[in-house]
Amino acid sequence: MLGEMDIKEKFTARLEKFIALAAVRLSDDVMSRLAEMQGREDTPLQKAIYDSYFENLKMAIDLKRPCCQDTGMLQFYIKAGTAFPYLDITAEVLTEATRRATASVPLRPNAVNYFDEKNTGDNTAERSPWIDWEIVPNSSDMEITLYFSGAGCSLPGQAKVFKPSDGIEAIIPFVFDAVCGPGINACPPLLVGIGLGHNIENAAVLSKKACIRLLGTKHPHPKGAELERRITDGLNNLGMGAQGLRGNQAVMGVHIESSARHTATIACAVNVSCYTLRRGIIRFKKDLSYEMPTYSGAAL
Ligand code: SF4
Repeated sequence: MLGEMDIKEKFTARLEKFIALAAVRLSDDVMSRLAEMQGREDTPLQKAIYDSYFENLKMAIDLKRPCCQDTGMLQFYIKAGTAFPYLDITAEVLTEATRRATASVPLRPNAVNYFDEKNTGDNTAERSPWIDWEIVPNSSDMEITLYFSGAGCSLPGQAKVFKPSDGIEAIIPFVFDAVCGPGINACPPLLVGIGLGHNIENAAVLSKKACIRLLGTKHPHPKGAELERRITDGLNNLGMGAQGLRGNQAVMGVHIESSARHTATIACAVNVSCYTLRRGIIRFKKDLSYEMPTYSGAAL
């Protein structure tokens, strides 16, 4: 029987290794999508860019190094069963695992406290790592989605509240402006996350949840799924490809997450992820056994 300290250590060590895995290796769905996209490009320049992407990704695994130098700010999106036995220590464990992984992987220290203007050196700082909680009733499991939020893909983020008279179509040029302007700097092909809500902050949170959704999934409402498809097709008809250069596909996909809107508002936020979409999922049982649905064949 493990004591309290042993459990905390086991949980921390697993998460440290999981952070290392997610920094080095892209999830299976992202790798498959990038391979499909390379097959649809038809110029030597685009083929060469994808070749360099894949070479970089392979070398990251071979050398056990992060696949991009900007390992970003760590964000954990948690679906916590109410009966998961380690809820009390989860935030502490995630923070310690972040601190250890920053040294052991290593990750680039990016966290700067606003009013000290000092880099803490270990990626733990005010509300960092960022932890978002969803409670799951009648469950003893915990699912943790880790996202590395780099600067290149955070800078294009935009949010705006439209009037209902503007109509839902008003979000389309807004999204295109975000992708075609600052989005080009975020190492396309991008995954575009759109949050639709009743005010600016719930739209912003939903836009990131759209970015961590698995590729190949659709908005549950047929009209939401249709809007995802239309915006994807439009962005992929711009003549922009990998690295923002001439090509056939600017985006890996467009995901929309939504909540109800106020009768008098249409709030929209846009977030993007770059080609190194570092999003990984780990699921724990109450005995801390785990599965990692986004990394076939991997073990910690
Ligand atoms: S946009 Fe992505 S791939 Fe490009 S430098 Fe930033 S984190 Fe790395």
